[in-house]
Amino acid sequence: MNVMSNRPRRLESYVSGQWVAGAKDGVPLLDASTGAPVAFIDSTGVNFKAALVYGREKGGPALRRLSFHERAAMLKALGQALMERKEEFYTLSTATGATRADSWVDIEGGIGTLLSYASKGRRELPNTRVLLDGDVELLSKDGTFSAQHILSPLQGVAVHINAFNFPCWGMLEKLAPTLLAGVPAIVKPASQTAYLTELMVRRVVETGILPEGALQLVCGSVGDLLDHVEGQDAVTFTGSATTGRRLKTHKAIVENSVRFTMEADSLNAAVLGLDAAPGTEEFDLFVKEVAREMTAKGGQKCTAIRRVIAPRAFSEALIENLRARLGKTALGNPTDEAVRMGPLASLDQREEVRARIRDLSADAEIVAGDPDNPSVTSGDAVAGAFLNPVLLYCDKPGSARAIHDVEAFGPVSTVMPYDTAEEAVDLALRGKGSLVASVFTNDPAFAEEVVLGLAPFHGRVMIGNRVSAKSSTGHGSPLPGLVHGGPGRAGGGEELGGMRGVKHYMQRTAIQGAPTLLSAVTGRWMPGAEARAGGEHPFRKSLAELKIGDQLITATRTVTLDDIEHFANFTGDTFYAHMDDEAAKANPFFDGRVAHGYLIVSFAAGLFVDPAPGPVLANYGVDNLRFLTPVNPGDTLQVQLTCKEINPRANAEHGEVRWDCNVTNQTGATVAQYDVLTMVAKTRE
Ligand code: NDP
Repeated sequence: MNVMSNRPRRLESYVSGQWVAGAKDGVPLLDASTGAPVAFIDSTGVNFKAALVYGREKGGPALRRLSFHERAAMLKALGQALMERKEEFYTLSTATGATRADSWVDIEGGIGTLLSYASKGRRELPNTRVLLDGDVELLSKDGTFSAQHILSPLQGVAVHINAFNFPCWGMLEKLAPTLLAGVPAIVKPASQTAYLTELMVRRVVETGILPEGALQLVCGSVGDLLDHVEGQDAVTFTGSATTGRRLKTHKAIVENSVRFTMEADSLNAAVLGLDAAPGTEEFDLFVKEVAREMTAKGGQKCTAIRRVIAPRAFSEALIENLRARLGKTALGNPTDEAVRMGPLASLDQREEVRARIRDLSADAEIVAGDPDNPSVTSGDAVAGAFLNPVLLYCDKPGSARAIHDVEAFGPVSTVMPYDTAEEAVDLALRGKGSLVASVFTNDPAFAEEVVLGLAPFHGRVMIGNRVSAKSSTGHGSPLPGLVHGGPGRAGGGEELGGMRGVKHYMQRTAIQGAPTLLSAVTGRWMPGAEARAGGEHPFRKSLAELKIGDQLITATRTVTLDDIEHFANFTGDTFYAHMDDEAAKANPFFDGRVAHGYLIVSFAAGLFVDPAPGPVLANYGVDNLRFLTPVNPGDTLQVQLTCKEINPRANAEHGEVRWDCNVTNQTGATVAQYDVLTMVAKTRE
């Protein structure tokens, strides 16, 4: 289907494996700059209950059959395929009012999030279908009853209800962790810009990369879909607080304890430091950041700076600088290359923002911009949803209400003065919980006081100064590896945050039992579980032959004083506890000279290594190394090395093997405990 023709199209939903149009002609969606119809949207007649069942029965099992690494590879392939088609998305994106720079955040930022999850998933998750959470909890003295927390994918569908401002990123930033977790999704974009999401989903479906049922799309109202959500489903919402609250208290969501994540209004603050006077680099950076946040995407960003908190003495200079900078922002049709800021998403949206500016005016005066008379360099000033940036100033922010309460979702910010760091924090917290705040300072003491004051009320706090200016990702950019979401007014939700975001779609379960049975469930050997010693050295076995629990009990080696002296002189580590008997005895932990911890580790390797070339390719580190009992000259070491976890790498000839390494002395006491990490070939040569 040619979705790029200039004729307005009827958008379709992709449900139960088919593209379906709504039963009615639909509501027209208008180009934000010209007012010309781009598409019609309607979902009447879509069988939402069947879509949920289809996701649960078809998409879920197909995704759960794949390991984390296989799902990560799928996300990578998808990201690459979409990146190849990006120009098509850019072209359509101008209708939403987005400039090329705005669209970059939405389109390439979204695809980049897929790719980032793909690579993080492969690096940070095991190649399994279940995740372990935390360490083994020992529940009995004799070690026969223990527990391990695990995370397994929910068996329902994630319903993602998205906002109009990021039709691509909004979908992909939620989809990436959902699919990596092994959970299918139904995406419902906001109607206003759904044509861009629909185009991207068409391209996704055409690639055939995702298993059938993993991704469905609803263009238009979700009808009775939420009536049918169940306890294994999850619903995420980005949009207005009013809608969010309505959905959060939806009967089926409440009755079935459906996981509900909400990202709503946020009156994000930026604080200029008391040290950042006009003329400092931090002052200039602050001006640039505030102006950028007001104008990027026409200020229609959930993370945009709404409240500008500045030292009273610098406020006048700040307003002057902002006024000059904002005045140079060319407003117009984003198809025009000279344009720096496009229109708002719709005329309705502009009316909404104008009304909110009127609310803000109860507390604050407009010091830059005229909300009612747009001045445009291109585009239709009557039919297009244009609005120049509007800066307000509130002289008494401590007693004002509207400026801490009202979100004008457009190019609108309010400057508010403060006198002390404590007051700056107090003003920021009046936003009642936000997605992000930023602090521009070069003073460590100010940074500490303000950032720690802001942290409990924010999902992210960015510190800006001269050192990070070039590399900083900025106040307004949510990043795949960092938490996105905020408490209180911001909705109380949390998204992204690297692998934290994946776990939102998984159930944490404490599994209790005997170690052998726990190991069978988790796929990871643990102390006390059955092991197989004797037979071939486990380093001779390929990944295909090696089994969890394969064990080597080594020969013994006695540590002599000569060994300790030799090691000390050879390495240069002549710390007194190894060299001076008297001084060592005076130390509360030792009873005379002791062997170096690294000597123990080296001797242990000497005991367990099988030297000939074979399937073990490399030792790439140790984890959790602890020295538990001092080793004195004359003590005899022995190692128990057990295959703990096997992770075959997808698309590679090798995998990672984690070995439990327990070094004991002649009494059986553990002197050192750690995990040895090796790369092992999948097959023998
Ligand atoms: P809405 O809350 O109206 O819509 C958000 C999403 O919810 C859309 O996909 C919308 O679909 C959907 N929706 C609306 N009603 C229902 C319902 N009863 N059942 C299921 N889904 C529903 O917000 P808007 O996008 O219209 O924006 C309005 C305001 O929200 C903005 O002016 C701004 O203040 C705020 N906003 C905040 C954002 C943030 O991240 N902080 C992001 C975007 C907006 P449909 O479009 O089809 O109605």
